[in-house]
Amino acid sequence: MECEMCGARVDKLKKIKVDGAILSVCQKCERFGTPVESMRVYDDRGSKGSTQVNVPVKPVIIQRKPNRTRNSEKEIESLEIVPEYAEVIRLAREKTGMSQDEMADKLREKRTLISAIERGGIKPDIKTARKIENLLKIKILEEF
Ligand SMILES: [Zn+2]
Repeated sequence: MECEMCGARVDKLKKIKVDGAILSVCQKCERFGTPVESMRVYDDRGSKGSTQVNVPVKPVIIQRKPNRTRNSEKEIESLEIVPEYAEVIRLAREKTGMSQDEMADKLREKRTLISAIERGGIKPDIKTARKIENLLKIKILEEF
């Protein structure tokens, strides 16, 4: 076999394209043209079928923290007047030498209320009981 470019006799010839003409050349001469074998017609099937990767957009879920304003409110103390409050108050008052009138004045309550409390007829509310506790230095409220 003869190189169509340089005329060298070789066992193998390669087809190259030089200025539009296909020549069978030796290894030395193939660099002068474009190798025909390597020329490939790229079809578009590959790109057409290629799937576009759709990256799913993760929805951003904003988790709201539950409103805790209600819990932030201080719970009202669970207090109860001791059952023997009437006697405790009366004895404590008598110890101090205070009259029911004086005690009523200091508590800014009516004397009739103090009287009723000491008789056990009226249970003082927590607020009043607190005032009595502070005035007489006693304890008539208990947690339940
Ligand atoms: Zn050659």
